Amino acid sequence: MTLSLAATHAKGKFAVDKIFGAAGAAAQAVAQFGKDKVVNATIGSILDDNEALVCLSTVEKVFRNLPITEVANYAPIAGLPDYLEAATALAFGENRPDAYTNAVATPGGTGVIHHTIWNYSEIGDTVLTSDWYWGPYKVLCEEALRKIATYTLFDENQNFNIKSFEAKVNELLAKQNSLVTLINTPAHNPTGYSLSDSEWDQVLEVVKTAAKDQSKRLVIMVDIAYIDYAGEQEQARAFMKKFGNLPDNVLIILAFSMSKGFTMYGQRTGAMIGISKSKDVIKEFGDINQFSSRATWSNVNRGCMRLLTTIYNDKSLLAQLKEERSQYYNMIRERADIFMREAKTANLNMLPYIAGFFLTIPSKNPDAVCNKLHDDNIFAVPLAKGVRIAVCAVPSAKITGMAAKVAQAMAAV
Ligand code: PLP
Repeated sequence: MTLSLAATHAKGKFAVDKIFGAAGAAAQAVAQFGKDKVVNATIGSILDDNEALVCLSTVEKVFRNLPITEVANYAPIAGLPDYLEAATALAFGENRPDAYTNAVATPGGTGVIHHTIWNYSEIGDTVLTSDWYWGPYKVLCEEALRKIATYTLFDENQNFNIKSFEAKVNELLAKQNSLVTLINTPAHNPTGYSLSDSEWDQVLEVVKTAAKDQSKRLVIMVDIAYIDYAGEQEQARAFMKKFGNLPDNVLIILAFSMSKGFTMYGQRTGAMIGISKSKDVIKEFGDINQFSSRATWSNVNRGCMRLLTTIYNDKSLLAQLKEERSQYYNMIRERADIFMREAKTANLNMLPYIAGFFLTIPSKNPDAVCNKLHDDNIFAVPLAKGVRIAVCAVPSAKITGMAAKVAQAMAAV
C-alpha cells in the first residue's frame, strides 16, 4: 500500500486531462516528423494559418503600454470598479435585461464556475449540465464535494432537448432545494452549438415553472466563454434580454472571461455577473462571492483588468479590437465550413456546429478513433462519446481532407 497523508476528501484525487494528453502526443509527432506533417487539432486557443498563437494586436499594444505599477499592484478583492462596469457592459452589449445586476472579478470563467458551485449549491448536492460538457465542470464539482448530473443536450432532430432538460431539473428538485445548472452557450465547447432564442424561452419556462415552489432556489450559470466568436455580436447576446423579471428565487450568473475574447488565456481574468429581480439577492451575490474570493485567490490580475478598461474607454481601440476578432471569427468559420462540407461528402455524422472553437463527431469508440488517426498524424481529443476537433487551431490547408480521414478511421475501428 502506498503511503498517503491526504485528508479523506482529498485521497485518490488525480486529474487526468485528456486534452493535455492528446496535445502531448501531437507535440511528440511534430518533433519526430516535422510540423508540416502533423495536424494538431487538440489545442483550445486560436492559432493563425502559420500555427502561431494569436494575441489580438490591440490587446498586445495596450497591454505592453500599461504602466508597470498597474501591472504590479494589488487590486480590490471585488475587482476594479471600472473594470466591473466595463466587463458588464461588454457582456450584455445592447441586451441588458431589466433587472438588478452586480459583478465580482474572477480568475477567468473557471473562477466563476468555482464560486457558483461553492456558493449556490449545498455540499453533497448535484449540479446539472448537458451530456456534452467541458471536462473541468466535473472536476470543479468534485473538488467542491458536489456531484454532477447531465441531461441529453440534443433531441432526435439535433435541437436542444428541452424534454430531457425539464425531466432532469424536476428530478433533482425533488431531491434537493437548490439547483445550479451550467449552460455553455453560445458556441458551446465541445460541439459548437448555440441555443436559439426560442430554445432559451423554453429553458426559462421550465425554470419559472419549477420556481413556483418557493422553497426551491434555481441558479443558471451561463458560460459565455466563446461569445465573442459566436457570430453577430448583438444577435449572439439577444437571449440576455430574457433574464429580466424572472422570479426572485431564480438567479442568473454570466461567466465572463477574457481568455478567448481578449486572447489572454494565461492572464486569468474574468467576472461573474449576477442578474436578479431581487435587490437583496444581488447584494448578497456581491457579499458572498467577494468573501469567497478573499478566501481563495484573493484579488484578480490588475493589469488585465486595466487592459480591458483602457480598451473599453477608447472607442477607436474597441472598434479595432472588434474588427480583429471578427477577422479571426471568419478564419475559424472558414475552417469549420470546409470540415462540414467535406463531412457531408464523406457521410460523416457531426453534432450540430453553429460557431466556436470546436466541433465534435459522435463515436462509440472515441479513443480507438483518435488512435487510428495517429496513423495519419492527425491528433484530436477523445471525449466520452465523441471526438473533438479544434478548428480554432488548424489552418484551412490542413483541415482539407481531414473529414475523409476521420470517416475512414471511424469505419476502421
Ligand atoms: N468554459 C468553457 C466551456 C471553456 O472551454 C473554458 C476554457 O477553455 C472556460 C469556461 C474557462 O476558461 P477560463 O477560465 O480561461 O476563462
